[in-house]
Amino acid sequence: MKIKLIIIIIILVALSLFAITKGNIFIVPNSCVGCGDCIGVCPTNAIEIIDGKAVIDTKLCIDCEICITSCTYKAIRKNK
Ligand code: SF4
Ligand code: SF4
Repeated sequence: MKIKLIIIIIILVALSLFAITKGNIFIVPNSCVGCGDCIGVCPTNAIEIIDGKAVIDTKLCIDCEICITSCTYKAIRKNK
């Protein structure tokens, strides 16, 4: 019983940390050329091209940062 409670607390803490740190990745529209290279590397399909620019769905993004290195135009950044 006590172990279950500890596990539930750990899960709740992990979820709140996740919620706090989410949404740190963003696109700089002026730098994005809409090549789509970042779309293929995103594990959660959080990126799509809208009107020729990449857009990140913050509900799907898990802040893994994989897309940052995929962009040769340095259009994907992380909030510090
Ligand atoms: S890889 Fe970079 S330039 Fe290409 S669509 Fe993604 S953000 Fe834009
Ligand atoms: S940080 Fe990860 S999950 Fe978020 S858009 Fe980039 S590749 Fe996708």
